[in-house]
Amino acid sequence: MRKINLLFAIFLTSAQCFAQIPAIGGYNEPLPKVVTPGNVSESKGMQAPSDAISLFGGTDLSQWTGNNGDPEWIIHDGMVMVKSGSGDITTKKEFEDFQLHIEFMHPADITGEGQMRGNSGVYLQGLYEIQVLETYNNNNKTYVNGQTGAIYTQHAPLVNPLRKPGEWNTYDIIFMAPTFNADGSYKTNPRVTILLNDVLIQNNAIIYGETVKNTVAEKLRGPIRLQDHGCTVNYRNIWIREL
Ligand code: MG
Repeated sequence: MRKINLLFAIFLTSAQCFAQIPAIGGYNEPLPKVVTPGNVSESKGMQAPSDAISLFGGTDLSQWTGNNGDPEWIIHDGMVMVKSGSGDITTKKEFEDFQLHIEFMHPADITGEGQMRGNSGVYLQGLYEIQVLETYNNNNKTYVNGQTGAIYTQHAPLVNPLRKPGEWNTYDIIFMAPTFNADGSYKTNPRVTILLNDVLIQNNAIIYGETVKNTVAEKLRGPIRLQDHGCTVNYRNIWIREL
């Protein structure tokens, strides 16, 4: 009987392996959807590809809400600047799995230090903060899991490719939403891969829960939220592709 069970187990394992192997040889369909990439230039950054949802293209914040209605952040020269004290801004639309592109720049004449030097943040699903802080060349001393590229308080970035104040930085963030057990706990944690200035800084990192609190919020979809931490930070070219 034991031998039969063993043979059955081998058969099942083999069947699962075979099931995962794609057919050998070429195939002709379905054709991948054609996407036109966005223009890239030093002066304007990386614009949205044809299948992206533009969240901020340089002229208006119609996709966003503020704490008390319309956002008060300041639009100028194709970018939007945090208005200190006005509160975070949040997208009206909510997202599950996505690719998010966002560019940010600290002012060349930035002041402050530690967590008060150019602090802002990109909250994925409104819950998980990817830190924005002026930490060029590791000159601004702070805790490493609180510097730019950190999943705030959870993971420090793998490396620090941040550009200096007055220059634009790009975040490309690929986020996989969590799934949940019946009791509301994570069945699969949220995961995130991040490139900062085209350099990998988070590699399919496990997110443990809402940043800082590390608690689980049972939400399959959520908005993008940008943080007002009382510091001046500019953003441009914010676009998202739902996966
Ligand atoms: Mg922050």
